[in-house]
Amino acid sequence: MHNPGHGNRDRWSAQDRFAEGAQYIAGRPAEGTSGRTHAVVDPATGDEVYTYKLGGPADVDAAVAAAREAFPGWSGATPGERSDAMHRFAAVLAERADEFAHAESLQCGKPIKLSREFDVPGTVDNTAFFAGAARHLQGQSAGEYSGDHTSYVRREPIGVVGSVAPWNYPLQMAAWKILPAIAAGNTIVLKPSELTPLTSLLFALAATDAGIPDGVVNIVTGAGQDAGEHLVGHPNVAMTSFTGSTGVGKRVAEIATATVKRLHLELGGKAPFVVFDDADLEAAVHGAVAGALINTGQDCTAATRAYVQRPLYEAFVEGVADLMETVRLGDPFDPSTDLGPLISHAQRDRVAGFVERARSYARIVTGGEAPGGTLKDGAYYRPTLIADAPQDSEVVQSEIFGPVLAVLPFDSDDEGIRLANDIPYGLAASAWSRDVYRANRATREIKAGCVWVNDHIPIISEMPHGGYKASGFGKDMSSYSFDEYTQIKHVMFDNTGVAAKDWHRTVFGDR
Ligand code: NAD
Repeated sequence: MHNPGHGNRDRWSAQDRFAEGAQYIAGRPAEGTSGRTHAVVDPATGDEVYTYKLGGPADVDAAVAAAREAFPGWSGATPGERSDAMHRFAAVLAERADEFAHAESLQCGKPIKLSREFDVPGTVDNTAFFAGAARHLQGQSAGEYSGDHTSYVRREPIGVVGSVAPWNYPLQMAAWKILPAIAAGNTIVLKPSELTPLTSLLFALAATDAGIPDGVVNIVTGAGQDAGEHLVGHPNVAMTSFTGSTGVGKRVAEIATATVKRLHLELGGKAPFVVFDDADLEAAVHGAVAGALINTGQDCTAATRAYVQRPLYEAFVEGVADLMETVRLGDPFDPSTDLGPLISHAQRDRVAGFVERARSYARIVTGGEAPGGTLKDGAYYRPTLIADAPQDSEVVQSEIFGPVLAVLPFDSDDEGIRLANDIPYGLAASAWSRDVYRANRATREIKAGCVWVNDHIPIISEMPHGGYKASGFGKDMSSYSFDEYTQIKHVMFDNTGVAAKDWHRTVFGDR
């Protein structure tokens, strides 16, 4: 059933849709063989919506073998053939948009309008982008650099890619990992978060239905320390691409490095939001609330630290608090809901812990509690604004991953930019000003993989996404991602045709 209807959580059953298991290997669903089961929980209600057998090392081995077998055929296909298959893939995804949105909201608690208007169309667009980009892998021109040879560069796929993804945007993260990898001719095994496998499974199923050959896209749904580590360390996996927290990323890097693999890490973030005193205050207030609350703040680029120049500070604090209080928490399947629950009760309690500890050193301007009433069983938390926390406090320095914004004042432009950079992370940032010189300076001097001016959050398929500093290295999306998923080979042809080449003198005399 591909059409669950609009917002009706009862008509679509994950248990029925994925009755054959939560692994997808060689073009077929399968049960995991780790011997352990896991339940996907709807965080809005606490109800278990899908119980499945977790995959383990044997399932990783089977998926890697399938990806290896598929590699010669897929990498040997012409760019045009890969592109055609991926265009069909984009069309199948678009046809199933409702089902994707429903499954994503069910497993994550995302408001249905976010799934429908952001996650799903973004993924369809990304698929269409990489279908086109598959025909456009670029390189340097060939030439006679030595005088006696013609040199050129081949851009080749790497082989089997092993990817590990987080739970915050399960569909988009699966797409960001899978699409550039397969567009460049690799095959892939993706391990989604065990909390949120549903849309990765739908994605793989859609790839098969679009005619992408069996084994090109495989999914192993298992625990990080079990299936995840086995995938990262697998000798037949040529590259690891990981999106998740910086802590787990360090462990992944250790394992990948020990097996000498190509490594691409998209890690945590703690984006600054710098408001200069000539900014449009109303735009900055709207931008801060939207940028902090998107996906209930579980967004690696979310606005988390607002630095506001002193003349606008109090008005900004008041404006953000007032707007946060208008945000409608509710059932994710109600089209008017703005803010859903966090991914789990454990994540909600973690977020609440940061806020409780902050009470002793900062001002909780609004929020700072879980709602009661009809929302009491869900993992909800009210939008929270924390003012006047010291720069070195944990709410300013640590990734909270919830609907919490810290706001601090600054005086000079130098100070604002220094505070923005005073953090281990460097994924994204924004600068708010009407002065082009001031804004341009901020874009140059803030150390982050993306700096927005007078906005915060939008992403587009054509432009790269990736971190500086402890936010990782390598790029997702855009043609830049092909630098991660391809390797460069120098080919050199002799043009002289002579047996005794000139350079041989250096080895066996001047004969
Ligand atoms: P996480 O690091 O806990 O888990 C990510 C994935 O790694 C999951 O699939 C998990 O099962 C797996 N994993 C856990 N331990 C592992 C191990 N030892 N070996 C291999 N795999 C292991 O992250 P999360 O809580 O799922 O997601 C939130 C984090 O992801 C945040 O830090 C957020 O900033 C980050 N994130 C970053 C980006 C980006 O583009 N930079 C995008 C989305 C999310």
